[in-house]
Amino acid sequence: MKAIIVGGGIIGLSSAYYLKRSGWEVTVIDQSDFLNNCSYGNAGYVCPSHFVPLASPGIIQQGLRWMLNKKSPFYIQPRLSWPLMDWGLKFVKSATAKHVADSAIPLRDAALVSQHCYEELANTPGFDFAYERKGLFEYFLTNEATAHAHETIEKATSLGLDAVYMNAEEVQALEPQTKLNIKGAVYFKCDSHLYPNKLMRSLISWLQHNGVTLKPNETITAFEKNNNRISKVITSKHTYEADAVVIATGSWSREVAQLINVKLPLMPGRGYSITLENSPYKLNYPAILVEGRVAVTPMDGNKIRFGGTMEITNIPRPPQISRVEGILNTVKQFLPEFTIPLPDIKDVWYGYRPCSPDGLPYIGRLKNISNCIVATGHAMIGLSLGAGTGQWVTQLLNEEKTSTDLAAFEVERFS
Ligand SMILES: Cc1cc2nc3c(=O)[nH]c(=O)nc-3n(C[C@H](O)[C@H](O)[C@H](O)COP(=O)(O)OP(=O)(O)OC[C@H]3O[C@@H](n4cnc5c(N)ncnc54)[C@H](O)[C@@H]3O)c2cc1C
Repeated sequence: MKAIIVGGGIIGLSSAYYLKRSGWEVTVIDQSDFLNNCSYGNAGYVCPSHFVPLASPGIIQQGLRWMLNKKSPFYIQPRLSWPLMDWGLKFVKSATAKHVADSAIPLRDAALVSQHCYEELANTPGFDFAYERKGLFEYFLTNEATAHAHETIEKATSLGLDAVYMNAEEVQALEPQTKLNIKGAVYFKCDSHLYPNKLMRSLISWLQHNGVTLKPNETITAFEKNNNRISKVITSKHTYEADAVVIATGSWSREVAQLINVKLPLMPGRGYSITLENSPYKLNYPAILVEGRVAVTPMDGNKIRFGGTMEITNIPRPPQISRVEGILNTVKQFLPEFTIPLPDIKDVWYGYRPCSPDGLPYIGRLKNISNCIVATGHAMIGLSLGAGTGQWVTQLLNEEKTSTDLAAFEVERFS
């Protein structure tokens, strides 16, 4: 059986890996060269702790305040666009306490399964992606955040996740090489992290050595349907026959789904990262700097990566150096010894998170196209859920029971 996977980010490559291992003949097609997409420059967190979706109470008021500050971590580029307005209305409607409560178990379960997949992968010959299971800190500065931290710990504990409160001195003792300016922290012992660039390279290398065909620089332009199945995938260069198709085109998935008349509300959420390859500054543990929404990850030996911002924008809009400045200002505030010069914008990595309006991914089989699986919309947790998504895509195509319940991630839930 032949599967065509459209999109070679972490979701497409993980799907290719598990499909190939279960006996499928697999081709992955990407409009780019497989060497840079959102799955490379991210913070590398594999994080069951992220059980609260982006669409949550409070985010609207906070977001409106941030909109006025060009260095803030959140921004929606105002423009006359029906997809954006539609997405925005659905986002507002989803940002409820009920939605957060309903999403917690599906997100936790999905992340735990995916974390287990990464652990297996890390022990598979040929894979080396600096996987470490040592937890993740959330550092905060304010009293308001302290109160919120205790609520988070209570919720995490009720979900069976290992999370504890630590005061500033306790955290400082674990980070003796770096002066911290924090009030306290939540330590999510349940989380892990990895070096995404190495993960992507390991996957590509395994796929190439195991007979998966990778087709770079080909854009999907159409699908040919026969009854309720996709029979052909048409690209800018070739036409491919397929028994099954996986749409894993990240932030471009709304347009790709439109080719088969499927409505997939989705917006690109641009984020930036800066990586010090041989960092003079040392941190032992990854940390989120809560008030500035910045992720700091020591990875793969001497590297440290700083990432952040969520700019709901259209892809051609040029990257904004003010957002990078905002990230570095936050770093300096929490880690006062970290003096990182503002780089030239051309040296800053950025990528587009595929954001669904309710903050949950779309993973499942299309109702009216029986051989098409959609796997996208993972927003801020696409790396975390990446390996798991590859496994679920394979289980769906093999018509097996999936290793986690995918009901909350139903693809056509907004139709
Ligand atoms: C700063 C930052 C930090 C992040 N940190 C984390 C983190 O710590 N943990 C975490 O879990 N997630 C994190 N994320 C999110 C994570 O990176 C994304 O959710 C994930 O990479 C999305 O993967 P993807 O495969 O869906 O999309 P992508 O990696 O964008 O891949 C999609 C691919 O589809 C291809 N494509 C699109 N359209 C077509 C077409 N028509 N024809 C052919 N090919 C096409 C594109 O070229 C692209 O290669 C972060 C993101 C950012 C920006």
